[in-house]
Amino acid sequence: MRKKLPISRPLIQKDDVSAVAAVLKTGRLSFGPKHIEFEKLFAKKIGTRFAVAVSSGTAGLHLTMVAAGIGSGDEVITSPFSFVASANCILYVGAKPVFADVDIQTGNIDPKKIEERITKKTKAILVVHIFGQSADMDPILKIAKKHKLKIIEDACESVMAEYNGKRVGTFGESAVFAFYPNKQMTTGEGGMITTNSERIYKMCKSLANQGRSDNMQWLDHQCLGYNYRLDEMSAALGLTQLKKLDFMISKRRQVADWYSEFFKKYGVLVATPKIARWNTHTWFVYVVRIINNRVIRDKVIKKLAQKGISSKPYLPSIHLFDFYKKRFGYKMGAYPVSEKISRMSLALPFYIGLKKEDVKYICEQLINILKNYEK
Ligand SMILES: *Cc1c(COP(=O)(O)O)cnc(C)c1O
Repeated sequence: MRKKLPISRPLIQKDDVSAVAAVLKTGRLSFGPKHIEFEKLFAKKIGTRFAVAVSSGTAGLHLTMVAAGIGSGDEVITSPFSFVASANCILYVGAKPVFADVDIQTGNIDPKKIEERITKKTKAILVVHIFGQSADMDPILKIAKKHKLKIIEDACESVMAEYNGKRVGTFGESAVFAFYPNKQMTTGEGGMITTNSERIYKMCKSLANQGRSDNMQWLDHQCLGYNYRLDEMSAALGLTQLKKLDFMISKRRQVADWYSEFFKKYGVLVATPKIARWNTHTWFVYVVRIINNRVIRDKVIKKLAQKGISSKPYLPSIHLFDFYKKRFGYKMGAYPVSEKISRMSLALPFYIGLKKEDVKYICEQLINILKNYEK
């Protein structure tokens, strides 16, 4: 049998290993110089004044909600087509996630669906940039300005993506990036908040560190905080990963191009990812859509697995998770575009090191399964 092809894997090289080992040798495993350096260089890379390193993307999202003053009785508008953390963080602070349906092409929140969801309780729009490309920010910013709403970005899947030449993570009051091993760069577990506001920066620094005051008196707690600190080994890994981020994104782009090239011939069976004309895509995942709606996607996943190819439904719509259905009474049909994309989409193996011949093999196997589906 052929080698197994996983969905994703991080690129860990000698420089990453030696950077982490060097931290271990110093004995300073937390609260040292590395996370500070990582924050500085990350902010510089994205183009914001400040950044705060945190223990995960989810932790970062939680803190941006707290720092924005969002709490019980408030509503936050966000996308149902996302990883569950972007809606959960709204629940963490006792507020209500209100979904607005997405754009059929990109899977990002549809600006035309936002205004009808605004009520007196709406405080913010949590914009998710899904799969590696930016949401359509100009109309969203206009709506936010008109209704005096804050913008917070979940940029966890789209580091370095640009909208009309402007980088995601720079549009709102704050933004969050994530470094789980399947993302474009990794720290193991880890995340980063970016902001241009000194006030938000100071609040997030304090909240991530048990609510300590910014003169760092160890036992002075000025507010209810958390332990969302990023350890020094992770920060050291973040620094070496950041150094090769552009290289890693160009490699991901190459793999995506191979896929799209091979699939072009089979347009009636699978749709390849669409990139909005104002976006540059930084490729978190490679997700195709199965066009024939008689095909049961989960059966395709099983058949691919028999050929050594891992694949996943990507993503299920958040409002249809049991917990959300029970709590908010959502039913199938509430967000038809998101649900349609959820039904059709299939994430294929996608990582640096995947060879052109692997991509060809995956494409051939998938097309074979789809062509012979009826038989
Ligand atoms: C990865 C991701 C997060 C954060 O995930 P963590 O595992 O907590 O780092 C948040 N939102 C989206 C859309 C993501 O893809």
